[in-house]
Amino acid sequence: MKLQEYQSKRLFAQFGVPIPDGDVATTPAEAREVAARLGGTVVVKSQVLVGGRGKAGGVKLAKSADEAGRVADQILGMDIKGLTVHKVLIDQAADIADEIYLGAVMDRAARRVALMASAAGGMDIEEVAATTPEKIITVRIDPAVGFQDYQARQLAFGIGLAKELVRPFTTIAHQLFDCFLSSDATLAEINPLVVTGDNKLLAVDGKVVLDDSALFRHPDLAALRDADEETEAETEARRHGLSYVDLDGEIGCMVNGAGLAMATMDVIKLYGAEPANFLDIGGGAQADKVAAALRIILADPKVKAVLFNIFGGITRCDEVAKGILEAFEQIDTDVPMVTRLVGTNQEEGRAILAGAQMATANSLAEGAQKAVAAARGNL
Ligand code: GDP
Ligand code: MN
Repeated sequence: MKLQEYQSKRLFAQFGVPIPDGDVATTPAEAREVAARLGGTVVVKSQVLVGGRGKAGGVKLAKSADEAGRVADQILGMDIKGLTVHKVLIDQAADIADEIYLGAVMDRAARRVALMASAAGGMDIEEVAATTPEKIITVRIDPAVGFQDYQARQLAFGIGLAKELVRPFTTIAHQLFDCFLSSDATLAEINPLVVTGDNKLLAVDGKVVLDDSALFRHPDLAALRDADEETEAETEARRHGLSYVDLDGEIGCMVNGAGLAMATMDVIKLYGAEPANFLDIGGGAQADKVAAALRIILADPKVKAVLFNIFGGITRCDEVAKGILEAFEQIDTDVPMVTRLVGTNQEEGRAILAGAQMATANSLAEGAQKAVAAARGNL
Protein backbone atom coordinates (compact mmCIF):
# COMPACT_ATOMS: atom_id res chain seq x y z
CA MET A 1 0.00 0.00 0.00
CA LYS A 2 1.33 3.40 -1.01
CA LEU A 3 0.95 6.50 1.12
CA GLN A 4 0.33 9.93 -0.33
CA GLU A 5 3.10 12.52 -0.03
CA TYR A 6 1.39 14.37 2.83
CA GLN A 7 0.82 11.12 4.74
CA SER A 8 4.41 10.02 4.16
CA LYS A 9 5.81 13.31 5.40
CA ARG A 10 3.58 13.32 8.49
CA LEU A 11 4.82 9.82 9.25
CA PHE A 12 8.44 10.95 8.82
CA ALA A 13 7.77 13.90 11.14
CA GLN A 14 6.63 11.49 13.88
CA PHE A 15 10.21 10.19 13.85
CA GLY A 16 11.69 13.67 13.97
CA VAL A 17 12.38 14.33 10.29
CA PRO A 18 11.96 18.08 9.59
CA ILE A 19 9.13 18.79 7.11
CA PRO A 20 7.59 22.07 5.92
CA ASP A 21 4.48 23.40 7.64
CA GLY A 22 1.41 22.70 5.52
CA ASP A 23 -2.00 21.14 5.15
CA VAL A 24 -4.26 19.35 2.68
CA ALA A 25 -7.10 20.95 0.71
CA THR A 26 -9.78 19.50 -1.53
CA THR A 27 -11.20 22.80 -2.85
CA PRO A 28 -9.63 26.07 -4.05
CA ALA A 29 -11.28 27.90 -1.11
CA GLU A 30 -9.68 25.53 1.37
CA ALA A 31 -6.34 25.92 -0.38
CA ARG A 32 -6.65 29.68 -0.10
CA GLU A 33 -7.38 29.37 3.64
CA VAL A 34 -4.38 27.15 4.29
CA ALA A 35 -2.12 29.49 2.29
CA ALA A 36 -3.42 32.51 4.22
CA ARG A 37 -2.66 30.77 7.50
CA LEU A 38 0.86 29.83 6.36
CA GLY A 39 1.57 33.28 4.93
CA GLY A 40 4.18 34.12 2.28
CA THR A 41 4.96 31.94 -0.71
CA VAL A 42 3.51 28.43 -0.70
CA VAL A 43 3.82 25.43 -2.95
CA VAL A 44 0.64 23.73 -4.18
CA LYS A 45 1.19 20.02 -4.76
CA SER A 46 -1.13 17.46 -6.34
CA GLN A 47 -1.59 14.38 -4.15
CA VAL A 48 -1.59 11.42 -6.51
CA LEU A 49 0.25 8.15 -6.14
CA VAL A 50 2.78 8.65 -8.95
CA GLY A 51 6.18 10.28 -9.24
CA GLY A 52 7.15 13.08 -11.59
CA ARG A 53 4.28 15.34 -10.57
CA GLY A 54 6.60 18.35 -10.88
CA LYS A 55 7.32 17.71 -14.57
CA ALA A 56 3.64 17.01 -15.22
CA GLY A 57 2.65 20.46 -13.90
CA GLY A 58 1.24 19.14 -10.64
CA VAL A 59 3.58 21.12 -8.34
CA LYS A 60 3.36 24.92 -8.50
CA LEU A 61 4.49 27.89 -6.42
CA ALA A 62 2.02 30.60 -5.37
CA LYS A 63 3.04 33.98 -3.95
CA SER A 64 -0.22 34.84 -2.22
CA ALA A 65 -3.29 33.15 -0.77
CA ASP A 66 -5.36 34.27 -3.77
CA GLU A 67 -2.84 32.83 -6.17
CA ALA A 68 -2.79 29.60 -4.15
CA GLY A 69 -6.56 29.37 -4.64
CA ARG A 70 -6.21 29.88 -8.40
CA VAL A 71 -3.35 27.38 -8.71
CA ALA A 72 -5.30 24.82 -6.64
CA ASP A 73 -8.24 25.34 -9.00
CA GLN A 74 -5.96 24.44 -11.95
CA ILE A 75 -4.43 21.41 -10.25
CA LEU A 76 -7.56 19.89 -8.65
CA GLY A 77 -9.24 17.66 -11.22
CA MET A 78 -6.11 17.55 -13.34
CA ASP A 79 -5.14 14.22 -14.89
CA ILE A 80 -1.61 13.11 -14.00
CA LYS A 81 -0.46 9.88 -15.64
CA GLY A 82 -4.04 8.62 -15.71
CA LEU A 83 -4.89 9.62 -12.13
CA THR A 84 -7.33 12.38 -11.22
CA VAL A 85 -6.18 14.87 -8.58
CA HIS A 86 -8.67 14.99 -5.66
CA LYS A 87 -6.41 16.64 -3.08
CA VAL A 88 -3.62 19.19 -2.97
CA LEU A 89 -1.03 19.75 -0.29
CA ILE A 90 -0.28 23.39 0.50
CA ASP A 91 3.20 23.66 2.01
CA GLN A 92 5.21 26.66 3.05
CA ALA A 93 7.62 27.08 0.12
CA ALA A 94 11.19 26.08 0.82
CA ASP A 95 14.13 28.24 -0.14
CA ILE A 96 16.02 25.55 -2.02
CA ALA A 97 19.82 25.76 -2.37
CA ASP A 98 20.39 22.09 -3.15
CA GLU A 99 18.37 18.89 -3.60
CA ILE A 100 19.57 15.51 -2.41
CA TYR A 101 18.05 12.04 -2.36
CA LEU A 102 17.73 9.78 0.69
CA GLY A 103 15.85 6.50 0.66
CA ALA A 104 15.47 3.22 2.52
CA VAL A 105 14.42 0.17 0.55
CA MET A 106 14.13 -3.56 1.12
CA ASP A 107 16.99 -5.21 -0.77
CA ARG A 108 15.66 -8.75 -0.99
CA ALA A 109 18.71 -10.15 -2.77
CA ALA A 110 21.00 -8.88 0.01
CA ARG A 111 18.41 -9.76 2.70
CA ARG A 112 19.09 -6.34 4.17
CA VAL A 113 17.56 -2.90 4.25
CA ALA A 114 19.54 -0.70 1.88
CA LEU A 115 19.94 3.01 2.55
CA MET A 116 20.74 5.07 -0.49
CA ALA A 117 21.76 8.67 -0.93
CA SER A 118 22.56 10.78 -3.95
CA ALA A 119 23.61 14.35 -4.65
CA ALA A 120 21.39 14.12 -7.75
CA GLY A 121 18.19 14.66 -5.76
CA GLY A 122 14.89 15.92 -7.05
CA MET A 123 15.05 13.88 -10.23
CA ASP A 124 13.60 10.45 -10.82
CA ILE A 125 15.95 8.15 -8.89
CA GLU A 126 15.28 5.27 -11.31
CA GLU A 127 16.69 7.46 -14.06
CA VAL A 128 19.77 8.32 -11.99
CA ALA A 129 20.25 4.61 -11.30
CA ALA A 130 19.99 3.80 -15.01
CA THR A 131 22.18 6.58 -16.43
CA THR A 132 24.66 7.49 -13.66
CA PRO A 133 24.61 4.70 -11.06
CA GLU A 134 27.91 5.97 -9.60
CA LYS A 135 25.96 8.94 -8.23
CA ILE A 136 24.06 6.69 -5.84
CA ILE A 137 25.80 5.69 -2.60
CA THR A 138 24.36 2.60 -0.91
CA VAL A 139 24.91 1.03 2.49
CA ARG A 140 23.22 -2.15 3.66
CA ILE A 141 22.14 -2.60 7.25
CA ASP A 142 23.05 -5.80 9.05
CA PRO A 143 19.91 -6.69 11.02
CA ALA A 144 21.99 -8.14 13.87
CA VAL A 145 24.01 -4.96 14.34
CA GLY A 146 21.62 -2.24 13.22
CA PHE A 147 22.28 1.02 11.41
CA GLN A 148 25.74 2.26 12.43
CA ASP A 149 26.81 5.88 12.55
CA TYR A 150 29.78 5.23 10.31
CA GLN A 151 27.35 4.03 7.61
CA ALA A 152 25.38 7.27 7.81
CA ARG A 153 28.65 9.20 7.52
CA GLN A 154 29.62 7.02 4.55
CA LEU A 155 26.45 8.24 2.81
CA ALA A 156 27.07 11.87 3.79
CA PHE A 157 30.69 11.91 2.62
CA GLY A 158 29.85 9.82 -0.43
CA ILE A 159 27.50 12.51 -1.75
CA GLY A 160 29.97 15.30 -0.89
CA LEU A 161 27.80 16.93 1.77
CA ALA A 162 29.18 20.08 3.42
CA LYS A 163 30.83 19.35 6.77
CA GLU A 164 28.31 21.25 8.89
CA LEU A 165 25.45 19.24 7.37
CA VAL A 166 26.91 15.81 8.11
CA ARG A 167 25.54 15.61 11.65
CA PRO A 168 21.97 16.72 10.83
CA PHE A 169 22.05 14.41 7.80
CA THR A 170 23.06 11.36 9.84
CA THR A 171 20.28 12.18 12.32
CA ILE A 172 17.70 12.25 9.52
CA ALA A 173 19.07 9.04 8.02
CA HIS A 174 18.57 7.31 11.40
CA GLN A 175 15.06 8.76 11.74
CA LEU A 176 14.11 7.59 8.26
CA PHE A 177 15.50 4.13 8.96
CA ASP A 178 13.57 3.92 12.27
CA CYS A 179 10.43 5.00 10.45
CA PHE A 180 10.99 2.35 7.77
CA LEU A 181 11.46 -0.43 10.32
CA SER A 182 8.68 0.49 12.71
CA SER A 183 6.10 0.92 9.94
CA ASP A 184 7.03 -2.34 8.17
CA ALA A 185 7.67 -0.36 5.01
CA THR A 186 9.28 -1.71 1.86
CA LEU A 187 10.22 1.81 0.73
CA ALA A 188 10.65 5.13 2.54
CA GLU A 189 12.06 7.88 0.41
CA ILE A 190 12.78 11.60 0.67
CA ASN A 191 13.28 13.14 -2.75
CA PRO A 192 14.27 15.86 -2.53
CA LEU A 193 15.78 16.31 0.89
CA VAL A 194 16.64 19.95 0.42
CA VAL A 195 19.45 22.09 1.74
CA THR A 196 17.80 25.45 2.42
CA GLY A 197 19.28 28.90 1.89
CA ASP A 198 20.04 29.10 5.61
CA ASN A 199 21.78 25.72 5.46
CA LYS A 200 19.16 23.49 7.05
CA LEU A 201 17.86 20.14 5.84
CA LEU A 202 14.15 19.77 5.04
CA ALA A 203 12.15 16.84 3.62
CA VAL A 204 10.19 18.45 0.78
CA ASP A 205 8.80 15.29 -0.84
CA GLY A 206 8.02 11.90 0.72
CA LYS A 207 7.06 8.48 -0.52
CA VAL A 208 6.24 5.42 1.56
CA VAL A 209 5.23 1.95 0.43
CA LEU A 210 3.98 -0.33 3.22
CA ASP A 211 4.15 -4.11 3.25
CA ASP A 212 0.53 -5.23 2.81
CA SER A 213 1.23 -8.46 4.66
CA ALA A 214 2.25 -6.50 7.77
CA LEU A 215 -0.59 -3.97 7.68
CA PHE A 216 -2.55 -5.91 10.29
CA ARG A 217 0.06 -4.80 12.80
CA HIS A 218 -0.58 -1.14 11.94
CA PRO A 219 -4.30 -0.36 12.03
CA ASP A 220 -3.46 3.35 12.16
CA LEU A 221 -1.53 3.11 8.88
CA ALA A 222 -4.07 0.77 7.27
CA ALA A 223 -6.71 3.44 7.96
CA LEU A 224 -4.79 5.85 5.72
CA ARG A 225 -5.82 3.92 2.62
CA ASP A 226 -7.36 6.24 0.12
CA ALA A 227 -10.25 4.50 -1.67
CA ASP A 228 -10.18 7.30 -4.28
CA GLU A 229 -6.83 6.00 -5.45
CA GLU A 230 -7.87 2.42 -6.13
CA THR A 231 -9.50 1.19 -9.27
CA GLU A 232 -12.92 -0.38 -8.78
CA ALA A 233 -11.46 -3.79 -9.60
CA GLU A 234 -8.76 -3.41 -6.95
CA THR A 235 -11.28 -2.39 -4.29
CA GLU A 236 -13.58 -5.29 -5.17
CA ALA A 237 -10.69 -7.76 -5.17
CA ARG A 238 -9.42 -6.56 -1.81
CA ARG A 239 -12.94 -6.74 -0.35
CA HIS A 240 -13.22 -10.40 -1.37
CA GLY A 241 -9.68 -11.35 -0.37
CA LEU A 242 -8.59 -12.00 -3.96
CA SER A 243 -5.07 -11.31 -5.24
CA TYR A 244 -5.68 -9.43 -8.47
CA VAL A 245 -3.33 -7.52 -10.74
CA ASP A 246 -4.61 -5.88 -13.91
CA LEU A 247 -2.44 -6.53 -16.98
CA ASP A 248 -2.50 -5.53 -20.65
CA GLY A 249 -3.50 -8.75 -22.44
CA GLU A 250 -6.79 -10.21 -23.66
CA ILE A 251 -7.12 -13.55 -21.81
CA GLY A 252 -8.76 -13.25 -18.39
CA CYS A 253 -7.46 -15.87 -15.96
CA MET A 254 -8.99 -17.32 -12.83
CA VAL A 255 -6.70 -19.69 -11.00
CA ASN A 256 -6.36 -21.12 -7.52
CA GLY A 257 -2.84 -20.58 -6.22
CA ALA A 258 -0.30 -17.88 -7.03
CA GLY A 259 2.25 -20.27 -8.51
CA LEU A 260 -0.34 -21.92 -10.73
CA ALA A 261 -1.58 -18.48 -11.79
CA MET A 262 1.94 -17.51 -12.86
CA ALA A 263 2.34 -20.80 -14.75
CA THR A 264 -1.03 -20.21 -16.42
CA MET A 265 0.08 -16.77 -17.60
CA ASP A 266 3.31 -18.29 -18.98
CA VAL A 267 1.44 -20.96 -20.90
CA ILE A 268 -0.95 -18.37 -22.37
CA LYS A 269 2.10 -16.47 -23.62
CA LEU A 270 3.59 -19.71 -24.94
CA TYR A 271 0.55 -20.06 -27.21
CA GLY A 272 0.92 -16.54 -28.51
CA ALA A 273 -1.48 -14.42 -26.44
CA GLU A 274 -1.18 -12.23 -23.34
CA PRO A 275 -2.95 -12.55 -19.98
CA ALA A 276 -5.37 -9.73 -19.05
CA ASN A 277 -4.77 -10.22 -15.35
CA PHE A 278 -3.20 -12.19 -12.58
CA LEU A 279 -5.89 -13.56 -10.30
CA ASP A 280 -5.44 -15.98 -7.45
CA ILE A 281 -8.73 -16.98 -5.81
CA GLY A 282 -6.75 -18.70 -3.05
CA GLY A 283 -7.16 -22.11 -1.48
CA GLY A 284 -10.62 -23.29 -0.41
CA ALA A 285 -12.44 -20.55 -2.33
CA GLN A 286 -16.22 -20.65 -1.91
CA ALA A 287 -18.76 -20.00 -4.62
CA ASP A 288 -19.35 -16.33 -3.74
CA LYS A 289 -15.63 -15.58 -4.00
CA VAL A 290 -15.48 -17.27 -7.40
CA ALA A 291 -18.46 -15.25 -8.56
CA ALA A 292 -16.80 -12.00 -7.41
CA ALA A 293 -13.62 -12.95 -9.24
CA LEU A 294 -15.52 -13.62 -12.47
CA ARG A 295 -17.37 -10.28 -12.18
CA ILE A 296 -14.01 -8.49 -11.83
CA ILE A 297 -12.54 -10.28 -14.85
CA LEU A 298 -15.58 -9.63 -17.06
CA ALA A 299 -15.73 -5.95 -16.08
CA ASP A 300 -12.45 -5.52 -17.97
CA PRO A 301 -13.27 -4.58 -21.58
CA LYS A 302 -9.91 -5.93 -22.79
CA VAL A 303 -10.96 -9.49 -21.97
CA LYS A 304 -11.76 -11.50 -25.12
CA ALA A 305 -11.78 -14.95 -23.47
CA VAL A 306 -11.57 -16.37 -19.96
CA LEU A 307 -9.51 -19.36 -18.86
CA PHE A 308 -10.35 -21.10 -15.58
CA ASN A 309 -7.48 -23.21 -14.40
CA ILE A 310 -8.50 -24.97 -11.22
CA PHE A 311 -6.40 -27.62 -9.61
CA GLY A 312 -8.63 -28.93 -6.85
CA GLY A 313 -6.90 -29.70 -3.59
CA ILE A 314 -8.31 -27.81 -0.66
CA THR A 315 -10.35 -25.92 -3.25
CA ARG A 316 -13.18 -28.16 -4.41
CA CYS A 317 -14.03 -28.21 -8.10
CA ASP A 318 -17.77 -28.35 -7.36
CA GLU A 319 -17.58 -25.15 -5.26
CA VAL A 320 -15.77 -23.40 -8.11
CA ALA A 321 -18.32 -24.67 -10.61
CA LYS A 322 -21.17 -23.39 -8.40
CA GLY A 323 -19.45 -20.00 -8.23
CA ILE A 324 -19.20 -19.84 -11.99
CA LEU A 325 -22.92 -20.60 -12.38
CA GLU A 326 -23.76 -18.06 -9.66
CA ALA A 327 -21.80 -15.41 -11.53
CA PHE A 328 -23.59 -16.30 -14.79
CA GLU A 329 -26.91 -15.63 -13.09
CA GLN A 330 -25.75 -12.09 -12.30
CA ILE A 331 -23.84 -11.26 -15.46
CA ASP A 332 -24.95 -11.45 -19.01
CA THR A 333 -21.90 -12.10 -21.15
CA ASP A 334 -20.92 -13.56 -24.49
CA VAL A 335 -17.21 -13.71 -23.73
CA PRO A 336 -16.10 -17.30 -24.50
CA MET A 337 -14.85 -19.38 -21.57
CA VAL A 338 -12.65 -22.40 -21.21
CA THR A 339 -12.41 -24.47 -18.05
CA ARG A 340 -9.85 -26.90 -16.90
CA LEU A 341 -11.10 -28.50 -13.68
CA VAL A 342 -9.03 -31.28 -12.16
CA GLY A 343 -8.64 -32.69 -8.68
CA THR A 344 -10.97 -32.81 -5.69
CA ASN A 345 -14.61 -33.38 -6.79
CA GLN A 346 -13.76 -32.86 -10.47
CA GLU A 347 -16.62 -35.12 -11.62
CA GLU A 348 -19.17 -33.19 -9.56
CA GLY A 349 -17.73 -29.91 -10.82
CA ARG A 350 -17.86 -30.94 -14.46
CA ALA A 351 -21.43 -32.20 -14.03
CA ILE A 352 -22.50 -28.83 -12.60
CA LEU A 353 -21.01 -27.03 -15.59
CA ALA A 354 -22.29 -29.51 -18.18
CA GLY A 355 -25.21 -27.29 -19.12
CA ALA A 356 -23.17 -24.08 -19.28
CA GLN A 357 -21.82 -22.72 -22.53
CA MET A 358 -18.17 -23.47 -21.82
CA ALA A 359 -15.38 -25.28 -23.57
CA THR A 360 -13.50 -27.76 -21.44
CA ALA A 361 -9.92 -28.94 -21.38
CA ASN A 362 -8.10 -31.75 -19.66
CA SER A 363 -4.68 -30.13 -19.50
CA LEU A 364 -3.37 -26.62 -19.00
CA ALA A 365 -1.79 -26.69 -22.46
CA GLU A 366 -5.10 -27.63 -24.07
CA GLY A 367 -6.96 -25.03 -21.99
CA ALA A 368 -4.55 -22.26 -22.94
CA GLN A 369 -4.65 -23.18 -26.64
CA LYS A 370 -8.44 -23.17 -26.61
CA ALA A 371 -8.61 -19.85 -24.75
CA VAL A 372 -6.21 -18.25 -27.24
CA ALA A 373 -8.26 -19.61 -30.16
CA ALA A 374 -11.50 -18.44 -28.51
CA ALA A 375 -10.11 -14.92 -28.03
CA ARG A 376 -9.48 -14.83 -31.79
CA GLY A 377 -12.94 -16.13 -32.56
CA ASN A 378 -11.62 -19.53 -33.69
CA LEU A 379 -13.19 -21.90 -31.22
P1 GDP B 1 7.63 14.96 -7.76
O1 GDP B 1 7.92 15.64 -9.06
O2 GDP B 1 6.34 14.17 -7.85
O3 GDP B 1 8.76 14.14 -7.24
O4 GDP B 1 7.31 16.13 -6.68
P2 GDP B 1 8.30 16.93 -5.69
O5 GDP B 1 7.59 17.18 -4.43
O6 GDP B 1 9.62 16.24 -5.55
O7 GDP B 1 8.48 18.33 -6.40
C1 GDP B 1 9.17 18.43 -7.63
C2 GDP B 1 10.13 19.59 -7.61
O8 GDP B 1 9.43 20.79 -7.32
C3 GDP B 1 11.20 19.50 -6.51
O9 GDP B 1 12.29 18.71 -6.90
C4 GDP B 1 11.56 20.96 -6.36
O10 GDP B 1 12.52 21.34 -7.34
C5 GDP B 1 10.25 21.69 -6.66
N1 GDP B 1 9.66 22.09 -5.37
C6 GDP B 1 8.91 21.35 -4.53
N2 GDP B 1 8.60 22.03 -3.41
C7 GDP B 1 9.21 23.24 -3.53
C8 GDP B 1 9.30 24.40 -2.71
O11 GDP B 1 8.78 24.44 -1.60
N3 GDP B 1 10.01 25.46 -3.20
C9 GDP B 1 10.63 25.43 -4.41
N4 GDP B 1 11.30 26.49 -4.81
N5 GDP B 1 10.56 24.36 -5.21
C10 GDP B 1 9.87 23.29 -4.78
MN1 MN C 1 10.01 14.12 -5.67
